[in-house]
Amino acid sequence: MITIAIANQKGGVGKTTTAINLATGMAAIGWRVLLIDIDPQGNASTGLGIAQSAREHSSYQVLTGDASILSSAQPSAVPRLDIVAATVDLSGAEIELVDFDKRTHRLEMAIERVPPGRWDICLIDCPPSLGLLTMNALVAADSLIVPLQCEFFALEGLSQLLRTVERIRDKFNPGLSILGVALTMYDRRNNLTNQVSDDVRACLGKVVFDTVIPRNVRLSEAPSHGLPALIYDHRCSGSAAYMQLAREVIGRLPTRRQAA
Ligand code: ADP
Ligand code: MG
Repeated sequence: MITIAIANQKGGVGKTTTAINLATGMAAIGWRVLLIDIDPQGNASTGLGIAQSAREHSSYQVLTGDASILSSAQPSAVPRLDIVAATVDLSGAEIELVDFDKRTHRLEMAIERVPPGRWDICLIDCPPSLGLLTMNALVAADSLIVPLQCEFFALEGLSQLLRTVERIRDKFNPGLSILGVALTMYDRRNNLTNQVSDDVRACLGKVVFDTVIPRNVRLSEAPSHGLPALIYDHRCSGSAAYMQLAREVIGRLPTRRQAA
């Protein structure tokens, strides 16, 4: 199972939207996908239609070691896409986990116990911080995807994220790579967006995905229906973009799985 963290310590840049729709796109292509929601806000869980009452086992128990990923994962409305939901008790985990043995390796240890072959890929939707939860994701992951909103301060904070990645590589996870930077909420009629996108590509080069995610109201409506945009309205521009991103992500993965 390949593990990809979707991380950026800024809030509202499109992490969760990317996690949900990338997961759905890969499942549509035939991959068996596990999405782990480790944001205490639980937006990925809600966006995939998992009611609070249906979150008996959650990523909190996975991190504390009280439940396995296998017993916590539940099916979503999307065939081949399962999710480990997040609950509000996760908001205390940043502090509680400090006292745990191997506190930065909790998620890694849980992922190592997943039976080989159960899922092809695991996506982790991270909270908007560089705290212990995101650290756990980066220690557990093979690579990360960084959603970057096309706005003036897009690059601000990125250096801090990259420094964190360096630190994690040095101390815990030498193989951690940046799979790609995804430009989100792109509005081609907006000059600033174009300028930012040009600057980001000039600055970061080929790590930026060719696919850009347009600003599309269907992407923001879909979660209130508990559905990925790719199911809520598979013809909208946002769905098309995430489908394309799914193909581009698969093309960048080191070990390609035969299409199912
Ligand atoms: P994060 O997880 O980084 O905090 P979200 O994915 O939750 O970010 O996105 C923040 C808000 O912007 C949400 O309301 C979401 O529906 C909306 N949004 C995200 N991507 C797009 C997009 N491409 N077009 C329009 N709205 C978007
Ligand atoms: Mg989010």
